[in-house]
Amino acid sequence: MNDLLDTTTTAGTSTPTDAIGTSAAQLRSAELEKRIRHEPGRFRVLTGDRPTGPLHLGHYFGTLHNRVRLQDLGVEGFLIIADYQVLTDRDVAERLVEYVEGLVLDYLAIGIDPDRTTIFTHSAIPALNQLLLPFLSLVSVAELNRNPTVKDEIAHSRQAAVSGLMFTYPAHQAADILFCKGNLVPVGQDQLPHVELTRSIARRFNDRYPTDGRPVFPVPDALLSAAPLLLGTDGTKMSKSRGNAIPLGASADETARLIRAARTDADRHITYDPVARPGVAGLVLLAALCQGRDPHEVAEEIGAAGAAALKRTVTEAVNEFLAPIRARRAEFARDPEQVRRVLRAGNERANAVADETLREVRTAMRSMY
Ligand code: ATP
Ligand code: MG
Repeated sequence: MNDLLDTTTTAGTSTPTDAIGTSAAQLRSAELEKRIRHEPGRFRVLTGDRPTGPLHLGHYFGTLHNRVRLQDLGVEGFLIIADYQVLTDRDVAERLVEYVEGLVLDYLAIGIDPDRTTIFTHSAIPALNQLLLPFLSLVSVAELNRNPTVKDEIAHSRQAAVSGLMFTYPAHQAADILFCKGNLVPVGQDQLPHVELTRSIARRFNDRYPTDGRPVFPVPDALLSAAPLLLGTDGTKMSKSRGNAIPLGASADETARLIRAARTDADRHITYDPVARPGVAGLVLLAALCQGRDPHEVAEEIGAAGAAALKRTVTEAVNEFLAPIRARRAEFARDPEQVRRVLRAGNERANAVADETLREVRTAMRSMY
């Protein structure tokens, strides 16, 4: 595991949490890709999702596709279903079992293999959650306060008041990553400030509680995909809980309906300009990603045919791309017991790993009695 520790890099080490350069992270990601291909066994991936609804195309191109690719390159993976974190922006976690099981189905459908990737739920891993307490002692309130992603989520929150859980969840996420000594976190752009905080927590813990041997935690890296921020049908970040997403498991008709209702603009000629025309560019990018093409080329091809033609192209591209994933999902959905087995086995394994890490943490903190 010591080898994992030298993934510490200069990229982002001294960057304040509210000014993380996506381009720096992208450069670093390209560098990491080379190392992963060369030595997949040196990496351990932690990623996850909140069970707040079905997974969508933003997830797919932002992170899911990377998770499967890394798994298939031979990188060990941990995949957390962050059920406690549902409560960051709402009072009650609704339809929790349905959403948790739905996430597992989505994972299986896109090619996550539960024998190679441990799928588990937050609330079933007490030792992971206990790490939050020492970690909170390592961060300042000011640091938590200036996290740009948390600010954005507070703006979209369903709650009138900001809960302590919302405010502190980036530290909780550090526990998610570090409980299994994850050193590679394939994420979308919104997660960069959180990975930065995790890096600080790992370094501070290692400095504050030196051990005789190797430091307890690796300093993890974010791995950005080529589409770190896919926009939804309203032109803002595609999100499960914002009603602007195209779910992986949606039917072809539902997909057509969602895309028909997408926001475009008054300019009839289709171009790819993400800054000036986010709505249109989001749609063009969706088609391009599904077809594995360059978005400029897709836009040029549609050109004067306008928004209706663009939407037809996107609908076709998305439905064709998702058809095999949807078929596999339907197949897995026929055996609900398999989903529960996957979760039971994943939770058991995650608990063993978390117990061992907590033991190391308590030893380093001299709190083993
Ligand atoms: P919610 O609205 O409930 O927060 P979400 O759609 O933002 O849901 P999360 O579970 O918060 O999804 O995020 C899971 C992972 O997917 C994170 O790594 C995040 O960066 C990535 N992700 C989510 N939405 C997008 C998107 N639109 N584009 C790229 N990546 C995304
Ligand atoms: Mg989110």
